[in-house]
Amino acid sequence: MDEIKTKIEKLRQQLNYHSERYYNDDSPEIEDYEYDMMMRELKNLELLYPQYDSADSPTKRVGGKADNTFEPVEHAVRMESLQDAFSKEELVDFDKRVSSNVNGAKYVVEPKIDGLSVSLEYRDGLFYRGSTRGNGDIGEDVSANLRVIHNVPLKLNESIPYIEVRGEVYMPKRSFEKVVDRQILNDEKPFKNPRNAAAGSLRQKDSNITSNRGLDIFVFNIQQIEGKELHSHKESLDYLKTLGFNTVPFYTQVSSIDDAIDEINKIGEERGNLEFDIDGAVIKVDDFNQRIMMGSTAKYPKWAIAFKYPPEEKQTKLIDIEITVGRTGVLTPTAVLESVHLAGTTVSRATLHNQDFIRDKGIAIGDIVTVRKAGDIIPEVLCVNEHNSNSIYEFPKHCPSCSEPVYRDEDEAAIRCINPECPAQLLRNLIHFCSREAMDIDGLGPTIIETFVNCGMITKTYDIFTLDPNKICQLEGFKQTSANNIIKSVEKCKDNDLSKLIFALGIRHIGAKAAKLLSDHFKNIDAIMTASVDSILQIEGFGEIMAQSVVDYFSTDSARELVEKLKEFNVNTESKAVVNDNRFEGMTFVLTGTLPTLKRNEAGAIIESFGGKTSSSVSKKTTFVLAGEEAGSKLDKAKALGIQIISEDEFMGMIK
Ligand code: NAD
Repeated sequence: MDEIKTKIEKLRQQLNYHSERYYNDDSPEIEDYEYDMMMRELKNLELLYPQYDSADSPTKRVGGKADNTFEPVEHAVRMESLQDAFSKEELVDFDKRVSSNVNGAKYVVEPKIDGLSVSLEYRDGLFYRGSTRGNGDIGEDVSANLRVIHNVPLKLNESIPYIEVRGEVYMPKRSFEKVVDRQILNDEKPFKNPRNAAAGSLRQKDSNITSNRGLDIFVFNIQQIEGKELHSHKESLDYLKTLGFNTVPFYTQVSSIDDAIDEINKIGEERGNLEFDIDGAVIKVDDFNQRIMMGSTAKYPKWAIAFKYPPEEKQTKLIDIEITVGRTGVLTPTAVLESVHLAGTTVSRATLHNQDFIRDKGIAIGDIVTVRKAGDIIPEVLCVNEHNSNSIYEFPKHCPSCSEPVYRDEDEAAIRCINPECPAQLLRNLIHFCSREAMDIDGLGPTIIETFVNCGMITKTYDIFTLDPNKICQLEGFKQTSANNIIKSVEKCKDNDLSKLIFALGIRHIGAKAAKLLSDHFKNIDAIMTASVDSILQIEGFGEIMAQSVVDYFSTDSARELVEKLKEFNVNTESKAVVNDNRFEGMTFVLTGTLPTLKRNEAGAIIESFGGKTSSSVSKKTTFVLAGEEAGSKLDKAKALGIQIISEDEFMGMIK
């Protein structure tokens, strides 16, 4: 019996751990299927051994906890989870439970969108609040981020007094691929699947980041409504459409569980062709009165069930392993496979992560391997089924691009080429430098950059600023206008804010947000370049690794040369951020006499820009008297009242 108790506790611990990774970090470590199987095992053990059941078991809980980064929102109607099924038999059992409670139930079958559950609330037809599910009772207010999603209507087609709908925010496959490409290019840890990408993108403090991630939404339920009576799910979905919502696609009403299963199979076959990820299909009792009669458990409604499609796996031959060199020199292995059809798409390449992964799985070229589409999008090699006689694949000792020796960082699994002149890195760096989030040079996309690098027009990043339109239009496929446009975009980028330039430099561990913080804090590139680790650590959000990375980057000759050249080409190296610095708040200054350099109105404007006030007469309320030459009675009065008198020099010191 003790063994059972230990097993139950272990499962709860594991499920809690993975739930935290999934819901709160948006970075799962195991496949959903594995998680579901563990959950199922725990549920069964709790049923068999009720003496060990517990109210705080993960089997009784919905989702994750609300993060205190956002304002909490209490859900008037609980945002429940769904019971799940993995076989046809379980669906038939569900139907039996329904029939024992209500007569002649009709069902609606719809795809189960793999995203993040949200509530949208409208008053008089106007969007006023949106929140995440959180733990089902309390979610997070993410209204600002939901507003930037194109398909979240801000005004409904009818101004009904109040409506709360529930939907799934998701990342279309197209957007996901773009986001992951960008992350790989930046040597950032890519999102594992569109679901985590959607959750990570919606729970952002900065809605600009959300708006760049291409999120979308499908609405699938009315939680509460005033001013309209509805009787069934199908009717409510039709009504949601007329209000202007993007409802869950191809929902179908059926009269029997067999027809529902047929629908589920149809959706399953279409799965790979859909523009979005689904992790199952949901069967729901259609009639609202019947739903009320059936009720809910602590976690899910009894009138609905989610069928989860099993992950698709296939065996195939590993033909080759390709190594690519990333922007920061990391060597990444990709499996080249004999094509197989998997979850609706043809798969011929899969990720092998790194050398440790290859060694752990014992992978050799020529092996028969099992491939799985993790989260249905990025295929990965799961295991080896038949070993070829070849020995386990070893990483090259030299960079495939520049032939210089490669190194392994002690604390990382990554193997890296550290040659700053490596052409593969140059290319990646350039692509990053010109990308939208970085210097945003329109017209200098990856293919064109590659052409310029290959023909020797660009050998260093700063060569972008010496591009000659007459030489460009001699290249095949270029005309004078396109060449001129490229030069125009290059010129335009010189005016960017410093934060874009810092991000464009591609310093390890420094993403767009960190670049902005550096730029806002230090104001110009020279200050960043000479900053010590300690001074960088003063910035909130910066840790030791990031600070050290900045210092390391600017200690290299190539970085210093690049900065020098950028200045030569008149690229802006100053921050343009308007700083909200209220250091003179609550202080009153009186100006008197002639200041050595500043005019009085200039000094006044500076004081006001720092939140201070100026006054023409000295009183007890005066904080400082800023006095120049030939100051008269005001100076005398200040002395009499004991008010502090400062010179222009001292004033300049105060605003440094
Ligand atoms: P769920 O994902 O199984 O089902 C409920 C959710 O489905 C609802 O929140 C709803 O928003 C969504 N949904 C999408 N389309 C819908 C539709 N048409 N109708 C109704 N609902 C729809 O349950 P859950 O509680 O959100 O999450 C549990 C799941 O999360 C597990 O099954 C597991 O796969 C995954 N998970 C994975 C890990 C991991 O480490 N891999 C950890 C925790 C949870």
